[in-house]
Amino acid sequence: MRRTLWRRLGLAVAALLLVLVVVVAVGLSAVSVPDTSRFDADLGAIRALAVSTGAPLPVELRSQRVGRASGVPHALVVAGDGFGSDTFEFYAYQLVYADGRTVLVDVGSDAQTQQAQFPGSEFDAAAYARIQEALRRADATVVTHEHFDHCAGIAHSAYLDEVAGKVHLTDEQLNGPDALDAGFTAELRARFTPLKYERMHLLRPGVVLIKAPGHTPGTQLVYVRLADGRELLLVGDVAWHQDNIRLPRMHPRLTNWLGGEDAQAMAHQLRWLHDLQRTAPELHQVVAHDGARMQDHQRRGLILDGLR
Ligand SMILES: [Zn+2]
Repeated sequence: MRRTLWRRLGLAVAALLLVLVVVVAVGLSAVSVPDTSRFDADLGAIRALAVSTGAPLPVELRSQRVGRASGVPHALVVAGDGFGSDTFEFYAYQLVYADGRTVLVDVGSDAQTQQAQFPGSEFDAAAYARIQEALRRADATVVTHEHFDHCAGIAHSAYLDEVAGKVHLTDEQLNGPDALDAGFTAELRARFTPLKYERMHLLRPGVVLIKAPGHTPGTQLVYVRLADGRELLLVGDVAWHQDNIRLPRMHPRLTNWLGGEDAQAMAHQLRWLHDLQRTAPELHQVVAHDGARMQDHQRRGLILDGLR
Protein backbone atom coordinates (compact mmCIF):
# COMPACT_ATOMS: atom_id res chain seq x y z
CA MET A 1 0.00 0.00 0.00
CA ARG A 2 2.65 2.44 1.11
CA ARG A 3 4.90 1.44 -1.79
CA THR A 4 2.07 2.23 -4.25
CA LEU A 5 1.57 5.64 -2.65
CA TRP A 6 5.26 6.49 -2.96
CA ARG A 7 5.33 5.29 -6.52
CA ARG A 8 2.33 7.48 -7.40
CA LEU A 9 3.85 10.45 -5.62
CA GLY A 10 7.13 9.90 -7.47
CA LEU A 11 5.33 9.75 -10.81
CA ALA A 12 3.40 12.94 -10.02
CA VAL A 13 6.61 14.82 -9.13
CA ALA A 14 8.31 13.52 -12.28
CA ALA A 15 5.35 14.63 -14.40
CA LEU A 16 5.36 18.07 -12.79
CA LEU A 17 9.10 18.44 -13.40
CA LEU A 18 8.65 17.41 -17.01
CA VAL A 19 5.91 20.02 -17.50
CA LEU A 20 8.16 22.63 -15.88
CA VAL A 21 11.11 21.72 -18.14
CA VAL A 22 8.88 21.94 -21.22
CA VAL A 23 7.41 25.31 -20.15
CA VAL A 24 10.90 26.74 -19.50
CA ALA A 25 12.28 25.32 -22.77
CA VAL A 26 9.37 26.74 -24.80
CA GLY A 27 9.44 29.99 -22.82
CA LEU A 28 13.12 30.57 -23.55
CA SER A 29 12.74 29.84 -27.27
CA ALA A 30 11.69 32.55 -29.70
CA VAL A 31 8.97 32.83 -32.31
CA SER A 32 11.02 32.57 -35.49
CA VAL A 33 11.50 35.50 -37.81
CA PRO A 34 9.99 34.66 -41.24
CA ASP A 35 11.98 34.73 -44.49
CA THR A 36 9.75 37.40 -45.98
CA SER A 37 8.05 40.25 -44.17
CA ARG A 38 4.37 41.06 -44.25
CA PHE A 39 4.97 44.29 -42.33
CA ASP A 40 3.06 46.89 -44.30
CA ALA A 41 5.52 49.76 -44.79
CA ASP A 42 7.13 51.11 -47.95
CA LEU A 43 10.39 52.99 -47.50
CA GLY A 44 9.94 54.82 -50.82
CA ALA A 45 6.57 56.17 -49.70
CA ILE A 46 7.96 57.11 -46.27
CA ARG A 47 10.87 58.99 -47.84
CA ALA A 48 8.56 60.80 -50.26
CA LEU A 49 6.18 61.83 -47.47
CA ALA A 50 9.07 63.15 -45.33
CA VAL A 51 10.04 65.76 -47.93
CA SER A 52 6.56 66.31 -49.43
CA THR A 53 6.01 69.83 -48.08
CA GLY A 54 9.33 71.21 -49.30
CA ALA A 55 9.75 72.94 -45.90
CA PRO A 56 13.19 72.93 -44.23
CA LEU A 57 14.19 69.63 -42.62
CA PRO A 58 15.67 69.23 -39.13
CA VAL A 59 19.38 69.93 -38.89
CA GLU A 60 20.25 67.62 -36.01
CA LEU A 61 19.11 64.69 -33.88
CA ARG A 62 20.15 64.77 -30.24
CA SER A 63 19.70 62.29 -27.39
CA GLN A 64 19.67 62.53 -23.61
CA ARG A 65 20.17 59.56 -21.35
CA VAL A 66 17.98 59.83 -18.26
CA GLY A 67 18.42 56.42 -16.63
CA ARG A 68 20.04 53.04 -16.72
CA ALA A 69 18.99 49.61 -15.42
CA SER A 70 21.56 46.83 -15.23
CA GLY A 71 21.16 43.11 -14.63
CA VAL A 72 18.52 42.47 -17.30
CA PRO A 73 19.01 38.76 -18.21
CA HIS A 74 20.37 38.56 -21.78
CA ALA A 75 18.32 35.36 -22.27
CA LEU A 76 15.19 37.55 -22.06
CA VAL A 77 16.59 40.07 -24.60
CA VAL A 78 17.98 37.85 -27.38
CA ALA A 79 16.68 34.26 -27.29
CA GLY A 80 19.29 31.50 -27.18
CA ASP A 81 22.22 33.91 -27.02
CA GLY A 82 23.71 32.99 -23.64
CA PHE A 83 22.94 33.80 -20.03
CA GLY A 84 24.85 37.02 -19.34
CA SER A 85 23.13 40.24 -18.33
CA ASP A 86 22.37 43.44 -20.23
CA THR A 87 22.14 47.08 -19.25
CA PHE A 88 19.10 49.00 -20.50
CA GLU A 89 19.65 52.70 -21.10
CA PHE A 90 16.72 55.11 -21.19
CA TYR A 91 16.79 58.05 -23.62
CA ALA A 92 14.85 61.06 -24.86
CA TYR A 93 15.43 62.26 -28.44
CA GLN A 94 15.24 65.78 -29.82
CA LEU A 95 15.11 67.02 -33.41
CA VAL A 96 16.28 70.56 -33.94
CA TYR A 97 15.36 72.81 -36.90
CA ALA A 98 17.48 75.71 -38.12
CA ASP A 99 14.91 78.22 -36.84
CA GLY A 100 15.19 76.77 -33.31
CA ARG A 101 11.97 74.79 -33.32
CA THR A 102 12.26 71.31 -31.79
CA VAL A 103 10.44 67.98 -31.79
CA LEU A 104 10.82 65.50 -28.91
CA VAL A 105 10.57 61.74 -29.38
CA ASP A 106 10.25 59.83 -26.07
CA VAL A 107 10.86 61.65 -22.80
CA GLY A 108 11.88 58.82 -20.45
CA SER A 109 10.36 58.25 -17.04
CA ASP A 110 10.13 60.24 -13.84
CA ALA A 111 12.24 58.94 -10.91
CA GLN A 112 9.37 57.46 -8.90
CA THR A 113 7.91 55.40 -11.75
CA GLN A 114 11.33 54.17 -12.83
CA GLN A 115 12.22 53.07 -9.29
CA ALA A 116 8.87 51.28 -8.94
CA GLN A 117 9.48 49.36 -12.18
CA PHE A 118 13.27 48.89 -11.90
CA PRO A 119 14.15 49.08 -8.18
CA GLY A 120 17.74 50.20 -7.63
CA SER A 121 18.21 51.48 -11.20
CA GLU A 122 20.22 54.65 -11.91
CA PHE A 123 18.27 57.86 -12.49
CA ASP A 124 19.84 61.17 -13.59
CA ALA A 125 17.75 63.93 -11.97
CA ALA A 126 19.63 66.71 -13.81
CA ALA A 127 18.98 65.00 -17.16
CA TYR A 128 15.29 64.65 -16.24
CA ALA A 129 15.12 68.39 -15.50
CA ARG A 130 16.71 69.14 -18.90
CA ILE A 131 14.19 66.88 -20.64
CA GLN A 132 11.30 68.60 -18.85
CA GLU A 133 12.57 72.01 -20.02
CA ALA A 134 12.92 70.61 -23.56
CA LEU A 135 9.34 69.31 -23.28
CA ARG A 136 8.13 72.82 -22.46
CA ARG A 137 9.97 74.31 -25.44
CA ALA A 138 9.12 71.55 -27.94
CA ASP A 139 6.94 72.42 -30.89
CA ALA A 140 5.66 68.82 -30.84
CA THR A 141 6.26 65.71 -28.73
CA VAL A 142 5.57 62.09 -29.68
CA VAL A 143 6.53 58.72 -28.21
CA THR A 144 7.53 55.44 -29.85
CA HIS A 145 5.11 53.63 -27.54
CA GLU A 146 3.14 53.79 -24.31
CA HIS A 147 5.58 52.09 -21.92
CA PHE A 148 6.60 54.05 -18.81
CA ASP A 149 10.28 54.33 -19.78
CA HIS A 150 9.26 56.29 -22.89
CA CYS A 151 6.37 58.42 -21.68
CA ALA A 152 5.91 58.51 -17.88
CA GLY A 153 7.79 61.83 -18.00
CA ILE A 154 4.74 63.27 -19.78
CA ALA A 155 2.10 61.84 -17.43
CA HIS A 156 4.09 62.98 -14.39
CA SER A 157 5.28 66.29 -15.80
CA ALA A 158 4.90 69.32 -13.56
CA TYR A 159 4.17 71.27 -16.78
CA LEU A 160 1.34 69.08 -18.06
CA ASP A 161 -1.17 71.94 -18.44
CA GLU A 162 1.36 73.87 -20.48
CA VAL A 163 2.44 71.00 -22.76
CA ALA A 164 -0.64 68.74 -23.20
CA GLY A 165 -1.77 70.55 -26.38
CA LYS A 166 1.60 69.93 -28.05
CA VAL A 167 1.91 66.25 -27.07
CA HIS A 168 0.58 63.98 -29.81
CA LEU A 169 -0.15 60.54 -28.37
CA THR A 170 -2.03 58.18 -30.65
CA ASP A 171 -5.40 56.66 -29.86
CA GLU A 172 -3.74 53.26 -29.40
CA GLN A 173 -1.11 54.68 -27.05
CA LEU A 174 -3.63 56.49 -24.85
CA ASN A 175 -5.90 53.46 -24.65
CA GLY A 176 -3.27 50.69 -24.56
CA PRO A 177 -3.28 48.39 -21.52
CA ASP A 178 0.14 49.68 -20.38
CA ALA A 179 -0.66 53.40 -20.45
CA LEU A 180 -1.90 53.29 -16.86
CA ASP A 181 1.47 51.97 -15.62
CA ALA A 182 3.05 55.05 -17.20
CA GLY A 183 0.65 57.25 -15.22
CA PHE A 184 -2.06 57.90 -17.81
CA THR A 185 -5.19 57.58 -15.69
CA ALA A 186 -8.60 58.01 -17.34
CA GLU A 187 -8.72 61.57 -16.02
CA LEU A 188 -5.31 62.36 -17.50
CA ARG A 189 -6.07 60.69 -20.84
CA ALA A 190 -9.06 62.99 -21.29
CA ARG A 191 -6.70 65.97 -21.35
CA PHE A 192 -5.04 64.88 -24.61
CA THR A 193 -6.42 65.05 -28.12
CA PRO A 194 -5.52 61.65 -29.61
CA LEU A 195 -3.54 61.58 -32.83
CA LYS A 196 -5.39 59.45 -35.39
CA TYR A 197 -3.79 58.19 -38.59
CA GLU A 198 -3.59 55.12 -40.81
CA ARG A 199 -0.22 53.47 -41.51
CA MET A 200 1.92 56.65 -41.68
CA HIS A 201 1.75 60.31 -40.76
CA LEU A 202 3.91 63.35 -41.51
CA LEU A 203 4.38 64.91 -38.05
CA ARG A 204 6.69 67.71 -39.14
CA PRO A 205 8.93 68.18 -42.21
CA GLY A 206 11.38 65.28 -42.25
CA VAL A 207 9.59 63.37 -39.47
CA VAL A 208 7.26 60.49 -40.39
CA LEU A 209 5.44 58.23 -37.92
CA ILE A 210 4.83 54.64 -39.06
CA LYS A 211 2.35 52.38 -37.25
CA ALA A 212 4.02 49.20 -35.97
CA PRO A 213 1.74 47.52 -33.40
CA GLY A 214 3.25 44.41 -31.80
CA HIS A 215 5.48 45.24 -28.83
CA THR A 216 2.48 47.32 -27.70
CA PRO A 217 -0.72 48.28 -29.57
CA GLY A 218 0.55 51.87 -29.81
CA THR A 219 4.07 51.20 -31.09
CA GLN A 220 5.19 53.38 -34.01
CA LEU A 221 8.51 53.83 -35.80
CA VAL A 222 9.84 57.35 -36.31
CA TYR A 223 11.62 58.04 -39.61
CA VAL A 224 13.84 61.11 -39.67
CA ARG A 225 15.44 62.83 -42.65
CA LEU A 226 17.92 65.57 -41.80
CA ALA A 227 18.62 68.61 -43.96
CA ASP A 228 22.03 67.17 -44.98
CA GLY A 229 20.32 64.04 -46.35
CA ARG A 230 21.17 61.68 -43.51
CA GLU A 231 18.37 59.35 -42.48
CA LEU A 232 17.56 57.63 -39.19
CA LEU A 233 14.82 55.29 -38.06
CA LEU A 234 13.93 55.24 -34.36
CA VAL A 235 12.56 51.73 -33.91
CA GLY A 236 11.64 52.05 -30.23
CA ASP A 237 11.33 48.65 -28.56
CA VAL A 238 10.58 46.59 -31.68
CA ALA A 239 14.16 45.51 -30.88
CA TRP A 240 15.83 45.87 -27.48
CA HIS A 241 19.27 45.02 -28.77
CA GLN A 242 20.87 45.52 -32.18
CA ASP A 243 21.28 41.73 -32.41
CA ASN A 244 17.48 41.29 -32.52
CA ILE A 245 17.68 42.93 -35.97
CA ARG A 246 21.14 41.74 -37.04
CA LEU A 247 20.62 38.01 -36.48
CA PRO A 248 17.54 38.45 -36.80
CA ARG A 249 16.17 36.88 -33.62
CA MET A 250 13.52 38.04 -31.20
CA HIS A 251 13.51 37.93 -27.46
CA PRO A 252 11.98 34.67 -26.13
CA ARG A 253 8.33 33.70 -25.83
CA LEU A 254 8.54 34.26 -22.06
CA THR A 255 9.14 37.97 -22.78
CA ASN A 256 6.25 37.96 -25.28
CA TRP A 257 3.98 36.41 -22.62
CA LEU A 258 5.04 38.74 -19.82
CA GLY A 259 4.72 41.81 -22.05
CA GLY A 260 1.45 40.81 -23.74
CA GLU A 261 3.15 41.24 -27.12
CA ASP A 262 1.95 40.23 -30.58
CA ALA A 263 5.02 38.13 -31.39
CA GLN A 264 4.00 37.36 -34.97
CA ALA A 265 3.68 41.07 -35.79
CA MET A 266 7.09 41.74 -34.19
CA ALA A 267 8.67 38.88 -36.15
CA HIS A 268 7.55 40.45 -39.43
CA GLN A 269 8.82 43.87 -38.30
CA LEU A 270 12.23 42.37 -37.41
CA ARG A 271 12.44 40.79 -40.87
CA TRP A 272 11.62 44.16 -42.48
CA LEU A 273 14.28 45.94 -40.41
CA HIS A 274 16.85 43.19 -41.04
CA ASP A 275 16.29 43.37 -44.80
CA LEU A 276 16.51 47.19 -44.72
CA GLN A 277 20.04 46.94 -43.31
CA ARG A 278 21.03 45.29 -46.60
CA THR A 279 18.79 47.18 -49.05
CA ALA A 280 19.07 50.61 -47.38
CA PRO A 281 22.30 50.64 -45.32
CA GLU A 282 22.28 54.46 -45.45
CA LEU A 283 19.20 54.44 -43.18
CA HIS A 284 20.60 54.28 -39.64
CA GLN A 285 18.41 52.27 -37.27
CA VAL A 286 18.28 53.43 -33.65
CA VAL A 287 17.31 50.78 -31.08
CA ALA A 288 15.85 52.36 -27.94
CA HIS A 289 17.86 50.78 -25.09
CA ASP A 290 21.15 49.63 -26.64
CA GLY A 291 23.80 51.87 -25.03
CA ALA A 292 26.74 50.46 -27.04
CA ARG A 293 24.91 51.17 -30.28
CA MET A 294 24.04 54.69 -29.09
CA GLN A 295 27.73 55.41 -28.36
CA ASP A 296 28.53 54.25 -31.88
CA HIS A 297 25.90 56.64 -33.35
CA GLN A 298 27.39 59.47 -31.27
CA ARG A 299 30.99 58.69 -32.27
CA ARG A 300 29.92 58.92 -35.91
CA GLY A 301 28.18 62.24 -35.28
CA LEU A 302 24.77 60.87 -36.30
CA ILE A 303 23.25 61.64 -32.91
CA LEU A 304 24.54 64.47 -30.71
CA ASP A 305 24.79 64.00 -26.95
CA GLY A 306 22.52 66.14 -24.75
CA LEU A 307 19.46 68.27 -25.48
CA ARG A 308 19.28 71.90 -26.51
ZN1 LIG B 1 11.44 50.63 -23.50
